[in-house]
Amino acid sequence: LCGTEMKVLEDKALYPIIMGHEGAGIVESVGEGVSTVKPGDKVITLFLPQCGECASCLNSEDNFCIQFKQSQTSLMSDGTSRFTCKGKPVYHFANTSTFSEYTVLSEISVAKIDAVAPLEKVCLISCGFSTGYGAAINTAKVTPGSTCAVFGLGGVGLSVIMGCKAAGAARIIGVDINKDKFEKAKEAGATECINPRDFKKPIQEVLVDMTGAGVEFCFEVIGNPEMVAAAFASCHESHGVCVIVGLLKFGVQLNISGWLFFSGRTLKGSVYGGWKGR
Ligand code: NAD
Ligand code: ZN
Repeated sequence: LCGTEMKVLEDKALYPIIMGHEGAGIVESVGEGVSTVKPGDKVITLFLPQCGECASCLNSEDNFCIQFKQSQTSLMSDGTSRFTCKGKPVYHFANTSTFSEYTVLSEISVAKIDAVAPLEKVCLISCGFSTGYGAAINTAKVTPGSTCAVFGLGGVGLSVIMGCKAAGAARIIGVDINKDKFEKAKEAGATECINPRDFKKPIQEVLVDMTGAGVEFCFEVIGNPEMVAAAFASCHESHGVCVIVGLLKFGVQLNISGWLFFSGRTLKGSVYGGWKGR
């Protein structure tokens, strides 16, 4: 269950709706004109589709397919819903609606996978794991020997840690207000974990003290505007890179001093870890 699911329930879901955007399954049947998957194929679902034709799909550095906007309507691209309950329509969610035994997706919203892949594990590749791992590898481009900090140690934060480790980071500091998350974070590759509530100083000052000059790669994996500001301020003043992975509520503004940018720090976003899903 990805944290985004909870955010959407708090925020703006249309009801009745079939939620769920992290899944894997077997193609049961295909519509007219579908050529890249066939009945019996194993696939993972893609909340971020890949149409292959838009400016983002055609740009090798970009994965934000224009067809993502379809997920905002909670309907298929022809304007219909393919679910009903007692004769009344039920909405789709995130182009996928995976909390269901059967679902209808566009061809561009599934990726064919190896026939021997275990579905109950690879489903995580359809959001949480790829999002975190890719944020480190593709978006931040973590370098060998570097110092990283990961704010938020849920499934996505743990995957960021795995990405930092795979990229050869020397020091990976996990940050969470729930210390029960620390054991798993260390199993995933965190070299140390800290709880902001254990300090009198703001967490950004703690991280700058711990590292001497700030962390080189910092990830906000909570979706809290105050923690985005703290993560950004934790970065090295010139070559520090901060990636926002957490989902901020629609309309939320960030309160960050413009002066922090002068010395060269970078703040950037990342969706689905920068991967092109198909
Ligand atoms: P999660 O709820 O499992 O984990 C969040 C963690 O943050 C928890 O461990 C919690 O204790 C910690 N936390 C909460 N407030 C904190 C604070 N003030 N300081 C420190 N730690 C705090 O969520 P998840 O499934 O790991 O998802 C994390 C975020 O990533 C969510 O915001 C989700 O919407 C977002 N997300 C983004 C993308 C994307 O493509 N950008 C994809 C998937 C998920
Ligand atoms: Zn596209």
